[in-house]
Amino acid sequence: RKSRIEKTKTVCTYCGVGCSFEVWTKGRDILKIEPSVDAPVNGISTCIKGKWGWDFVNSEERLTKPLIRQGDRFVEASWDEALSLIAEKLGSIRDEHGHDSLAYIASSKCSNEENYIFQKFARSIMGTNNVDNCSRYCQSPATSGLMRTVGLGGDSGTIQDIQQAELVLIVGANPAESHPVLATRVKRAHKLYGQKLIVSDIRKNEMAERADLHLHPHPSSDLVWLSAVTKYIIDQGWENREFIDQHVEGFDAYRESLAPYTLEYAEEKSGLTREQLIQTAEMIHQSGSTCILWAMGVTQHRGGTDTSTAICNLLLTTGNFARPGTGAYPLRGHNNVQGACDFGTMPNYFPGYEKVSDDAVRARYEQAWGVKLPDQPGLDNHQMVDGIEDGRIKGMYLFGEEMALVDSNSNFVEEMFGKLDFFVVQDIFFSRTAQFADVVLPASPSLEKDGTFTNTERRIQRFHQALEPLGDSRPDWRIIQDVANALGANWNYRHPSEIMDEAASLSPMFAGVSYERLEGWNSQVWPVKPDGSSTELLYTDGFAFPDGKARLYPVDWTVPFEPEAEYDLHLNNGRLLEHFHEGNMTYQSEHIRHKVPSTWLEVSPELAAERGIETGAQVRLVSPFGAVKLSVVVTDRVRGKELYLPMNTQQASEAVNRLTSSHTDKVTHTPSYKEISVRMEVL
Ligand code: SF4
Repeated sequence: RKSRIEKTKTVCTYCGVGCSFEVWTKGRDILKIEPSVDAPVNGISTCIKGKWGWDFVNSEERLTKPLIRQGDRFVEASWDEALSLIAEKLGSIRDEHGHDSLAYIASSKCSNEENYIFQKFARSIMGTNNVDNCSRYCQSPATSGLMRTVGLGGDSGTIQDIQQAELVLIVGANPAESHPVLATRVKRAHKLYGQKLIVSDIRKNEMAERADLHLHPHPSSDLVWLSAVTKYIIDQGWENREFIDQHVEGFDAYRESLAPYTLEYAEEKSGLTREQLIQTAEMIHQSGSTCILWAMGVTQHRGGTDTSTAICNLLLTTGNFARPGTGAYPLRGHNNVQGACDFGTMPNYFPGYEKVSDDAVRARYEQAWGVKLPDQPGLDNHQMVDGIEDGRIKGMYLFGEEMALVDSNSNFVEEMFGKLDFFVVQDIFFSRTAQFADVVLPASPSLEKDGTFTNTERRIQRFHQALEPLGDSRPDWRIIQDVANALGANWNYRHPSEIMDEAASLSPMFAGVSYERLEGWNSQVWPVKPDGSSTELLYTDGFAFPDGKARLYPVDWTVPFEPEAEYDLHLNNGRLLEHFHEGNMTYQSEHIRHKVPSTWLEVSPELAAERGIETGAQVRLVSPFGAVKLSVVVTDRVRGKELYLPMNTQQASEAVNRLTSSHTDKVTHTPSYKEISVRMEVL
């Protein structure tokens, strides 16, 4: 490997689009990223992160040895020392305080196989369902809304369907920065092939600028205008009666539930005009096929599940499911947030979304794993933090998540980490979260291991090892197996393909998935039948309920909090094109760091004039939960008293989650990151 140029097929780790390409390496040097016309998602496209975001694998900041805390410092240790200590501490907490006194946080940056064996470890070795992943912070409300209405939590079709839709409606998402290659497909279809585009967002992002109609509702009012548009469609007799009669339950009760959502009410509560609401309804009515895309602008609210449900209700009412170019598309953020959920790192589901409380399902896993399994759902991420506060949770094992920066109300989360009796953090860098650990384990990134990821389309793709693990770092699946064996398991997985074989043998959703079928540029889209065939478009044989019918599900609007008078500004937040999440990888990639070295605060021209500030001014934002210091950019992307702060920073002093609260979506406990009121002090 040292002297030759090697080309290795991999999958991008930076967003749920799941672009694949070959990485050219010579020794440990990364020479080039080369996409291919055969890549199933992206063809020859990548964005800046996919092209330039790989230097981090050779960063001097990489963890290469296990570390054990000694007082206020960490000392290097051997793997045997670290594993023995972990086994002793986790084992004694379990024995003294019970199985449910330990919590396990999985990684939606890591592979399907790694998530599968992590949930197996939590359930079968440690005896608890207290296992979750970071979908809890983003798209759990979308999954929940989909499950209420159509029965499965994944995107209804593929990016190809989005591309061929006559109308794309984007709600609370910024795909031009968060899902760039997918956005390119929409831009092309809109510009060249007559696709219509409506964007609803409180920030004038690039897609909003390109749209035929940009809706700028008041923050947290999406459910109101979506319901008003649906009611208007029904009032005009534009519902798809044939589709509803054949495929949908609950239309009459749903129609009655919409009574409050008149155009007048929606005008008052959302700030959209009657003309905008009617135009939206007319465009949906006139479209032969409509897709709705949404993301955290919808889900990260106290009513995130209900608004996601309202989106599905609108699509069902207009018959926009189960045909090419139609459907519901919650855009997954992390590269493998879909796969982490699919393969069971959730407190209530085994792999394939089979309930832990289902006796028959549990019996299948009990027989295969040879243990008795817990039958009640465990704690989710949010409840785990509360569990530390009230003493239920004594220890935690977390891998591949920067929870100290990305969970909401991070000052509180850090305080809780400090209370744990024992904390294991497994990562490729010494993250901020690792500062609170007792043992830190050095893991290997995707280029140093084999595995599969699942993108936002439910597409499973293979990535191959291009480099040897750096120093003493190990692939996460191997570390998890080592920890499990130190605690008495007798696992002997020699390769991730063996883990996938086991998952496929147990979960009907992945019955026909195999590494042989994923060779080269091949991919499989779940549910995968035993013969290996994919299901690219869902629900063509009926919706995922016993009678095959979808459910219209009435929902109510969660009225936003009235902020205290001193917190007079609304703070929106989201991603940058150039950086990934907390930036642990992209800030370690030279080209990207040089282009965008830090974050900033977007302030509207009118607010800047009122406060007497210009671009470059230093300000302090204060919420009831914390404060940050930021540099201002004055831009008309934001309006009035609405601010925007990109979340991608490694500096705790400027991280948005110093300001966010512990409020959550009522159903899924996803933090309401988008409901923040602040005051701004000019420095
Ligand atoms: Fe990677 Fe997403 Fe960019 Fe594709 S669009 S290259 S998956 S970050």
